[in-house]
Amino acid sequence: MELHEHTIHSLEERLREGEITSLEITKAIFERIEAVEDRVHSYITLMRESAFESARQSDRRREKGETRGPLDGIPVALKDLLCTKDAPTTCGSHILENFMSPYDASVVEKLRAAGAVILGKTNMDEFAMGSSTETSYFGVTRNPWDLERIPGGSSGGSASAVAAGECIASLGSDTGGSIRQPAAHCGVVGMKPTYGRVSRYGLVAFASSLDQIGSLTKDIEDSAIILGVIAGHDKRDSTSLPEPVPDYRKFLGRGIEGWVVGIPEEYYIEGIDPEATEAVERAAEAMKELGAECREISLPHTRYGIAAYYIIGPAEASSNLARYDGIRYGLRASGRKQLIDLYRSTRAAGFGAEVKRRIMIGTYALSSGYYDAYYKKASQVRTLMKRDFDDAFGICDVILTPTTPTAAFRLGEKIDDPLRMYLSDVFTLPANLAGIPGLSLPCGFTEKGLPLGIQLLAGYFKEDKLLQAAYALEKALPRDQRRPAL
Ligand code: GLN
Repeated sequence: MELHEHTIHSLEERLREGEITSLEITKAIFERIEAVEDRVHSYITLMRESAFESARQSDRRREKGETRGPLDGIPVALKDLLCTKDAPTTCGSHILENFMSPYDASVVEKLRAAGAVILGKTNMDEFAMGSSTETSYFGVTRNPWDLERIPGGSSGGSASAVAAGECIASLGSDTGGSIRQPAAHCGVVGMKPTYGRVSRYGLVAFASSLDQIGSLTKDIEDSAIILGVIAGHDKRDSTSLPEPVPDYRKFLGRGIEGWVVGIPEEYYIEGIDPEATEAVERAAEAMKELGAECREISLPHTRYGIAAYYIIGPAEASSNLARYDGIRYGLRASGRKQLIDLYRSTRAAGFGAEVKRRIMIGTYALSSGYYDAYYKKASQVRTLMKRDFDDAFGICDVILTPTTPTAAFRLGEKIDDPLRMYLSDVFTLPANLAGIPGLSLPCGFTEKGLPLGIQLLAGYFKEDKLLQAAYALEKALPRDQRRPAL
């Protein structure tokens, strides 16, 4: 096995045994990046110099016996909407092309404090709006399993980088599915923690009541490791909650005997690929063999999810993105004498079509006379969807669903049809509306050889249970040693 194919925990062991150094791992990853990046395009910015410096520091710490835990010396990548003071933070947008943050995001501070080696900033849909990474100002990212296909989005670069071996693990953000959907399309594990579990200080906001930071990893144990590092209360983010952070790794290997797994009937919708349904059936069979009981449940308001999300998300985005005015951040249109003219020209030149579409929808939905009909109504639907989950978790331990209706689609296939693109998130966005944690893990391949993902959901702050179930399932599913043929 080559170095870039390893997981965090397998490298952790080899580092501990002194079989390898962080510098060697980091070099191997940059060699891999050199070999495949021109085809995949996972990154917007690479941080070669600082990465090598962190790797050397990690090795020196280890020599002195001062290692900082499982992430020390491990190369990771960051979605380019997490603020870093030593590299630009672009959000995949022209308007922030040269923006340098004066501070590091909390999660970045935490990764650095844990000794992680930060490799660079990954490509994404502009301001995280999209499901294919095609709306990035910096060009498309391709799916390592099939270069003619999208990697999913908006954290497409973070997912493709893990799948292609261009990092060991990465961070992404998930507002409606942006971690789980690309994870499913790239054959990796993606986890969105509970709203409030991870500090969002230094995460550039898209929709503040939905956004959450999480990880993309090669397996469940790595997911548990990263969550253990990034979770926890932060007084700089008033929406982060002071729940204690358990040792998530302790829950792995405990099994799910006697658990009840809910399978929502509403998730078998028109347009879903039979291969996606079969993946869920395979997972359900495996869970039964582990001693769990699979029970059909109902989440009756699921069908309103897309409509509610595409009011709430754009409404909050239109407000959050008002700050890009050509004065305080990034791009500024030249030669404008009137203030309003400066705003207009900067925003016209700086934002792409999808971002403008969201701003227009959001502004409309919030405008006087329409607020009650749209935003308020959508918020009421959201409450009903939340109650559906409360009821369901009164009966079951976890919920099992497909992650996406189909495997990765072709580049260009949906980019001119926003409604079809929006439907990519039909199974993932309910978790954001409710605030519960969700995770996608690989579950076989389509006939064409594209990875399929299945989704597990759990109750608020039940990441321990979510990881416990996912780990058991991962071990029970047949091991497939396929790798992207890059
Ligand atoms: N694809 C969804 C959207 O475009 C979700 C994006 C996300 O989770 N950031 O809004």
